[in-house]
Amino acid sequence: MLQRVHVPVDVGDAISLLQPGAAFLAGGTLLMPYVNTDISPWETLVSGRRLGLDRIDAEQGAARLGATTTLAALGRDERLAFLQPVVESIASPLIRNLATVGGNLFARQPYGDLAVALLALDAAVVIAGPEGERYAAVDQLFAAGVGPGEIVTEVTFALPAPETFFYTKAMRRKLNSASIVTVAAVIEQAAGKVSSARVALGGAGPRAIRSHSVEEALLGQPLTVESVTAASDLALMDAAPFTDAYASAWYRARVLPVHIRRAILGA
Ligand SMILES: Cc1cc2nc3c(=O)[nH]c(=O)nc-3n(C[C@H](O)[C@H](O)[C@H](O)COP(=O)(O)OP(=O)(O)OC[C@H]3O[C@@H](n4cnc5c(N)ncnc54)[C@H](O)[C@@H]3O)c2cc1C
Repeated sequence: MLQRVHVPVDVGDAISLLQPGAAFLAGGTLLMPYVNTDISPWETLVSGRRLGLDRIDAEQGAARLGATTTLAALGRDERLAFLQPVVESIASPLIRNLATVGGNLFARQPYGDLAVALLALDAAVVIAGPEGERYAAVDQLFAAGVGPGEIVTEVTFALPAPETFFYTKAMRRKLNSASIVTVAAVIEQAAGKVSSARVALGGAGPRAIRSHSVEEALLGQPLTVESVTAASDLALMDAAPFTDAYASAWYRARVLPVHIRRAILGA
């Protein structure tokens, strides 16, 4: 049962307070409903609210997002306007006012839409812990999580060139609904052919994944209906769609290639 909430102003203090029985509290949109149950193991919460980790920097071709930046603040930042469709596809304005960039990295599928976009952006995270700071690619973070006493303090990525970032999310409703499938991609072209491709998927496994099969099939091709459709059909080689309250695994598998094509071609 919850006994204490600490609100440290220093990352080092936050880490010291993250002892067994303590959890890091960011926006609380996922954690608090759990804390408010009888089965929550957390006696102590360590809030990130006053750690000063809510800065957004976007200059010289790189973005640095403090982990406690809210999704609402991210969505308002004109320097990162390409992420607006991602932010606006997540939950409701009320939730986005609380929910953080760092928290989204820990959201289990079918949540974690920003995490899918960050995977396509090849983002990295700074992790602070009892042993100091370390860096990890977001896919390493998704696979391994953080260790005891560690928190993500920052997310960094290279800004994509204009018109190279693609995103779509299929939902049961147009707004405020979890993902059936989410597709984010960064695709660069040279002389009319794909020169690099990163395609990330949500709703396609227990965590956000890259589809290397789709990426490899796109390389060297022009972005035509034929080439993108053929590449998108390969997504199921990498994906393991699941059944939940929003969609069956069968349905997710059927619509995944369609939404990859729609993300890239807009149709
Ligand atoms: C009604 C509703 C609808 C939602 N819809 C969507 C949706 O459409 N798409 C979507 O992507 N998500 C959705 N979510 C999930 C959630 O709101 C977001 O993913 C949000 O970004 C989680 O961030 P948070 O700051 O609230 O996390 P919290 O609830 O504070 O934390 C979640 C977990 O992450 C850990 N954590 C948080 N920050 C860090 C950090 N910096 N370092 C280490 N650990 C950390 C916490 O300890 C906790 O275990 C929804 C949630 C609700 C309640």
